Amino acid sequence: MPNTRPDFDVIVIGGGMVGATCALALAGRGLNLAVIEAQEPPRSWSQGAIDGRVSALNRASQRLFERLELWESIRELGVNPYQAMHVWDALSGGQIHFDSQALGEPDLGYIVENRVVQRVLWEQLENAEAVTLLCPAGIVGLETDSSGAQLMLTDGRTLTTRLVIGADGRDSLVRTLADIETETVEYAQRAIVAQVRPTDWHRDTAWQRFLPTGPLALLPLADGRCSLVWSADDDRARELLALDDAAFSAALTEASELRLGTLTLDSPRTAIALRRQHATTYIRPALALIGDAAHAIHPLAGQGVNLGFMDAAELAAAILLAHRHGRALGGRWTLRRYERARRHVNAQMLQMMDGFKRLFGNTEPLIVRARGLGLNLVDHLEPVKRLMMQSAFSGQFSATSRQRSASQQRLFSDHFDS
Ligand SMILES: Cc1cc2nc3c(=O)[nH]c(=O)nc-3n(C[C@H](O)[C@H](O)[C@H](O)COP(=O)(O)OP(=O)(O)OC[C@H]3O[C@@H](n4cnc5c(N)ncnc54)[C@H](O)[C@@H]3O)c2cc1C
Repeated sequence: MPNTRPDFDVIVIGGGMVGATCALALAGRGLNLAVIEAQEPPRSWSQGAIDGRVSALNRASQRLFERLELWESIRELGVNPYQAMHVWDALSGGQIHFDSQALGEPDLGYIVENRVVQRVLWEQLENAEAVTLLCPAGIVGLETDSSGAQLMLTDGRTLTTRLVIGADGRDSLVRTLADIETETVEYAQRAIVAQVRPTDWHRDTAWQRFLPTGPLALLPLADGRCSLVWSADDDRARELLALDDAAFSAALTEASELRLGTLTLDSPRTAIALRRQHATTYIRPALALIGDAAHAIHPLAGQGVNLGFMDAAELAAAILLAHRHGRALGGRWTLRRYERARRHVNAQMLQMMDGFKRLFGNTEPLIVRARGLGLNLVDHLEPVKRLMMQSAFSGQFSATSRQRSASQQRLFSDHFDS
């Protein structure tokens, strides 16, 4: 790398939900930042037109957005709190119900359209101090060493930076150019995503039924509709996608056991191939991966972007700490701090979701029976349910509550304070 002052302190590649959050967590702290994004998020949409993609945001993500003073704007554009979650198993009949009141919480989280989060983040970035937005833009080349990174852009420009952050999603080009491998498991399942209209009120409840071919989730939206995420084995997904709208609605109503009455498809369907993917390392000299660029997870527990937001917060915290102490932003001291905080936690969550997928996809009669008994037993154990919900709130399944609170304390207090 040339031994001159770089163009930027930090360049984030990918201004999606995770990359934009990381850039905002760094903005206004004396760093010169750039965000390179392939396409701008939508600015407006007609009333009633709901985005196909929504996320269930957990408490930790909500708190991060509060900390960044973005939560009110997100709320104003439209969120729907869900007060309960009902999970049931098609084969065993076992079920478990989580209720926010029983757990002493006002809600269990929020269902938010991805475009709402993206728009709020993007508009904030446009007004942020010392942030250059390059959009539409992309990269074709990347070189890094311990002194920094050099990026070759699609328009022929070359930019230099102390640190490059790869937040460019599941098929990350940054990861490929940095020669970082992934451990990948193809699930041979697709998630069919759409909006559906139930005849009965969804009761602000997130519904999930485990079918032997994959989980079916119905997430409550503010206008009474539900966001559907129906994960199904490839063959079953192909059958479902080949049905016309009326036949699909009928199949969905049957698969949901009419818990919400009759369900009618209310938007086009899209399908996303599912895989588990974990980068073998999150860091290289002067480079870090965050969000889906680092890990992709089965959507059955709605944790993917929540994990990504915590990556963004931890990495921003490590960079700000390095900046304050005059350490190299892209140096090992900074980046190992981030990787140590996140890779293990993410790996545990990925494994946990793998375990759930395997457990609920198993049709062995003994396993099915044990699974049903287990669900019904836990349903009657409030302390266990409370623990499970606290883990889901924080996005950390296996850490003790003490470890969790220490980590969240770090994220939301001292590192962000100037
Ligand atoms: C069906 C489904 C349901 C889900 N539901 C939930 C849920 O309820 N809760 C939850 O927490 N998670 C959920 N997830 C996961 C969540 O959607 C992802 O984790 C999240 O979108 C990842 O965000 P990201 O910013 O890391 O990546 P992305 O959303 O992929 O964003 C990457 C950004 O980088 C840009 N980009 C890509 N390549 C380049 C390049 N070369 N140059 C410049 N820009 C580039 C893209 O345009 C994009 O803006 C779900 C996933 C699926 C598939």
